[in-house]
Amino acid sequence: MNNCSTIFVAGNDTFIGSAVLGALKKDGYLNIYGDEGKNLRDLSQVDKLFRARNPEIVFLTAGKTGGIAANMKYPADLMFDNLIITCNIIECAHRHNVKKLLYLASSCSYPRDCVQPMTETSLLTGPLEPTNEAYAVAKIAGIKLSHAYRCQYGSNFIVGIPANAFGPCDDFSEEDSHVVAALIRKMHEAKVTNRKQVEVWGTGNPRREFIFIDDLADACLFIMNNYDEPEPINLGSGTAFSIRDLAETIREVVGFNGSIVYETSKPDGMPIKSLDNSKIRDLGWRPHVSLKEGLTITYEWYRKVG
Ligand code: GDP
Repeated sequence: MNNCSTIFVAGNDTFIGSAVLGALKKDGYLNIYGDEGKNLRDLSQVDKLFRARNPEIVFLTAGKTGGIAANMKYPADLMFDNLIITCNIIECAHRHNVKKLLYLASSCSYPRDCVQPMTETSLLTGPLEPTNEAYAVAKIAGIKLSHAYRCQYGSNFIVGIPANAFGPCDDFSEEDSHVVAALIRKMHEAKVTNRKQVEVWGTGNPRREFIFIDDLADACLFIMNNYDEPEPINLGSGTAFSIRDLAETIREVVGFNGSIVYETSKPDGMPIKSLDNSKIRDLGWRPHVSLKEGLTITYEWYRKVG
C-alpha cells in the first residue's frame, strides 16, 4: 500500500473494520472508503461499489460476530451472513482486479482440541468447538475461498487469524458480547448499584488470548504491507490468560469490591485458544498494549461513552 492507494474496508462499521479504518487514517492513507450504505449481502450492490471505486486494496472485516451465547443462539445468522458477504467481496475483488485482499478469519477456526499454542498448520486437523461450529465453518470457508482464488487466478489474497479482540467500541450488550466487554459491563453495573456479586460464565478455567483492538488494526496494516504468503498468519498478543485471571484483572481495573461467582451451568467453550505468533513476530511486528493497559483504556471509554 502507498498513501494514495485506493483502499476499501469492507465492514467499516464493525468493531475490527472501524479500527482498521481509523488506523489507515492515522497512518496517512488518503484514499479510503467503506461500505457506503451498500448491502454487502447483495452481489450486484457489491459489484457496483467495486466498479465505482475500483479499489486496489481490500480489508475484508465484514460479517456478524458475537460471543459464546450469540454463537449458540444464532448459528444460522452468523454462518449465512459471513458466508454470503465473504463470497461477494472475494468474487468482486477478483472480477475487479484488486491487487491485494486481507481476509480476517477467527481463532475459533482451529480445532477444539488443537495443540497449543495453535500454529497455522493445525487448521482442519480435528473437530471444531460445538458452541461456535457454524461460525467457524463459515470462517474456514473464507480461508479456503481466499486460497482457491489464489490457486486458480493467482490473486494475492492473504488470511489473518486474530486472537480475541477487545477495546473501545466493542459490543457491550448483555448477552451477545464477548467476555471482556461482558465482564466490564457486569462489574461496572455491580459497582454503581452496590451489588455484592457478579456472575462469570463457566468454570473460569478456559484460557483465551486477547489482543487490544488498536494492536490488531496495526497488525492488519502490517501484514498488508509485509506478508504475501498463501498460508494464513496468526495475529495475536502472545499471551493467553484464564477467564479467572481476566475476571480478577477486570475487577481491579473497574474497582469492583464484591465477589465473583462462577456459573458452571454456562458453557466454557473451547478449553484453550492460544496462538503461536512466531510468524508475525519473525516479520518484526510486536503488540504495544498489555492486557491491563488495554482494559484500563477500554473501561475509561466505557465509563464515558458506553
Ligand atoms: P469464545 O472465545 O468464542 O468462547 O467467546 P467469549 O468471549 O464469548 O467467551 C470466552 C470465555 O469467557 C468462555 O469460556 C465464556 O464462558 C467465558 N465467560 C465468562 N463470563 C462471560 C460472559 O459474561 N460473557 C461471555 N461472552 N463469556 C463469558
